[in-house]
Amino acid sequence: MTTLTRADWEQRARSLSIETRAFIHGEYVDAVGGDTFDCLSPIDGRLLGQVASCAAADAERAVADARAAFDSGVWSRLAPAERKQAMVRFGNLIAQHAEELALLETLDMGKPVAHALTLDMVAAAECICWSGEALDKIYDEVAPTPHDQLGLVTREPIGVVAAIVPWNFPLMMSSWKLGPALASGNSVILKPSEKSPLTAIRIAALAVEAGIPAGVFNVLPGFGHTVGQALALNMDVDTLVFTGSTRIAKQLMIYAGESNMKRVWLEAGGKSANIVCADAPDLQAAAQAAAAAIAFNQGEVCTAGSRLLVERSIQEHFVPMVVEALKTWRPGHPLDPSTMVGALVDRQHLESVLGYIAAGEAEGATLRCGGCRVLEESGGVYVEPTLFDGVNNTMKIAREEIFGPVLAVIPFDDIEEALQIANDSPYGLAAAVWTRDLSKAHLAAKALRAGSVWINQYNGGDMTAPFGGFKQSGNGRDKSLHAFDKYTELKATWIKL
Ligand code: NAD
Ligand code: MN
Repeated sequence: MTTLTRADWEQRARSLSIETRAFIHGEYVDAVGGDTFDCLSPIDGRLLGQVASCAAADAERAVADARAAFDSGVWSRLAPAERKQAMVRFGNLIAQHAEELALLETLDMGKPVAHALTLDMVAAAECICWSGEALDKIYDEVAPTPHDQLGLVTREPIGVVAAIVPWNFPLMMSSWKLGPALASGNSVILKPSEKSPLTAIRIAALAVEAGIPAGVFNVLPGFGHTVGQALALNMDVDTLVFTGSTRIAKQLMIYAGESNMKRVWLEAGGKSANIVCADAPDLQAAAQAAAAAIAFNQGEVCTAGSRLLVERSIQEHFVPMVVEALKTWRPGHPLDPSTMVGALVDRQHLESVLGYIAAGEAEGATLRCGGCRVLEESGGVYVEPTLFDGVNNTMKIAREEIFGPVLAVIPFDDIEEALQIANDSPYGLAAAVWTRDLSKAHLAAKALRAGSVWINQYNGGDMTAPFGGFKQSGNGRDKSLHAFDKYTELKATWIKL
């Protein structure tokens, strides 16, 4: 926990020196073309720096270098125990620099610094350490062959991995890829979002300090349609891992098909249902969790509980409890340690969120709280947590991912109807059910078409369980040992004895 005050954070922000260049072969470098883009803080509109805008030439260079590092064996063939030590050092360095990294992330994308420090940075460091600790505890297999055969089933690193990540949890999403990708012995090129490049750039130096060899970890800031596309179309990238929108995820599958059939693993959007039954064990806890599920991280969460399904018999009682719980989620200055809701990522996203609020009103949903931009005098982009009641699952605000603090309340009459509504979505990332009926809880968990199901809680999970989506929420899983599958090829070796 930090004891830093807002004044302390502001003082640090003023004296912060921000690295803005790309990172290739163990060095910070300008983009080949010399281009940059402005990195503006959504907190107050201030210019944080001009960041290297990488493009196709940078991708070529980084991929060639990553390939050379991979082929040299300097990391890919390093003894597991040694690779583990470097990974754990890397994770520990992230933890040691947590205050600096949290500040960078807050300035860059607007989330409350207290959350960046105690949640994002902790999770990122933990994921890198966990993956490192895991790598020398994974054994290969010997097949049950006839007596005169020896069948070895082994995992090998796949080669060059490109990781393209979003801006909502910049370092945490990066770590979910970097942990198992590096632990498996691959070379990695990380492409952060153009909306939040700063922490990815900063940790490159920490990776070198940890002893990860030059060329094994590279960072290319820039836009999706330039350097992102170049990586996705590159003939020498073996695996592309992505977290971001479903629209871009689909595009990446096309790029893979148009190029070298690189493996593509996608964590995409969500429109998760949070189902509150009349027999929930604790309606107060459910109301608080429903508020947090839409307001935390400004609602910019892939698993946001953006559809709140409420049993009709408790609707009039329960919805006001959620409205009350949302009052603790007031937007404030992200560097104030007591702030629970920060700024949206940028002005363009603000317009999009406000557009959805207008659509909700136009389609006849009942606005119960929020609905407005606030703190405009700050120069930043802030929206109040917003709740619409009386939503129908066919409305735009019930179907599309808003990725902001806008909650749609949909009533239901029995659990079968709730499950039908929950599954009536192109997405399948997560769902929650609140009930004290054990059988109902288990039957619902089986019926929900989602990668994560929570019972009597929202957003449970840690490194021990896989995370990812059904349907158009993606394929493959981050976290847990299952994540290693994405970064290795399976080989069968038959030896005649
Ligand atoms: P986005 O799809 O717009 O961008 C994601 C990344 O893809 C960025 O780095 C972007 O530069 C890059 N990109 C964009 N166009 C590209 C192209 N043509 N080729 C290659 N790369 C390209 O998503 P976003 O707005 O940054 O993030 C929000 C989305 O991320 C939401 O849909 C959210 O649900 C999703 N998300 C999913 C998870 C999950 O684990 N399932 C977690 C967090 C966020
Ligand atoms: Mn930014």
